[in-house]
Amino acid sequence: MFSLKGMNALVTGASGGIGSAIAIALAKQGARLALSGSNGQKLRVFREQLHEDHGGEHVEITCDLSNSEQVEELIPATLDTLGGIDILVNNAGITRDNLAMRMKDDEWDDVIRINLEAAFRLMRASARPMMKARFGRIINITSVVGATGNPGQMNYTAAKAGLTGMTKSFAQEVASRGITANCVAPGFIRTAMTAQLDEKQTDTINARIPAGKMGEGDDVGAACAYLASREAGYVTGQTLHVNGGMAMLS
Ligand code: NAP
Repeated sequence: MFSLKGMNALVTGASGGIGSAIAIALAKQGARLALSGSNGQKLRVFREQLHEDHGGEHVEITCDLSNSEQVEELIPATLDTLGGIDILVNNAGITRDNLAMRMKDDEWDDVIRINLEAAFRLMRASARPMMKARFGRIINITSVVGATGNPGQMNYTAAKAGLTGMTKSFAQEVASRGITANCVAPGFIRTAMTAQLDEKQTDTINARIPAGKMGEGDDVGAACAYLASREAGYVTGQTLHVNGGMAMLS
């Protein structure tokens, strides 16, 4: 069940905390991966580690998602190197937090460009090969705060809520062609970023989570592996919340 053997997948932000866990989860299920990020060196180290730990002939494709020309080249480069694209995971994301009245235009622009616009461009470009193949899986990584809001994150929550709406529209456009589009919305996940929190901050966060602890990248990876699988073919336009019960959203 949930085998991804024979499938090609592009994962953006693949060397990051959550992206690497998603890549590992998909690779373990048998997918061949194009690992993307802006830092080629980080990607190469991760690809070599992935190969050593789990085998597979994966490739890395460097792409700065803030540069629309580079973004437009990413799906063609994936098709060239992998020969096709069955799964697209828009995982890369940044934060540029500030209270609304202090938020600079470039803090807004950067977050919208990388977190939202790049995902739109990649979905648009992958639609044609997926339609031709009459199969496709789009998975957009959003966030619990895209649904709940969060002070200091107008740019980030706008991008994440935008991704959710965009996913639903796309899902309706392509459902009859065997393509699904869904979101995975993590809550607090243990990554390099959350590792910097001190014990008191960690305790305060954990007290807000019914599960009593932060999630792991693997929890997000497993959700992606499911949504990428053939077995999830009748699930589309949905958001799978992976947050330990922190926010129970329908
Ligand atoms: P992370 O460790 O900071 O990783 C971010 C990834 O995005 C990196 O691989 C980075 O690759 C890539 N990236 C950043 N700017 C880029 C650019 N201009 N062009 C191409 N790639 C770029 O973050 P994370 O915690 O794993 O987050 C992954 C996703 O989960 C994000 O969408 C985030 O919003 C979401 N999320 C995270 C949490 C959490 O608790 N961590 C919670 C909810 C949602 P390079 O370094 O190569 O540029």
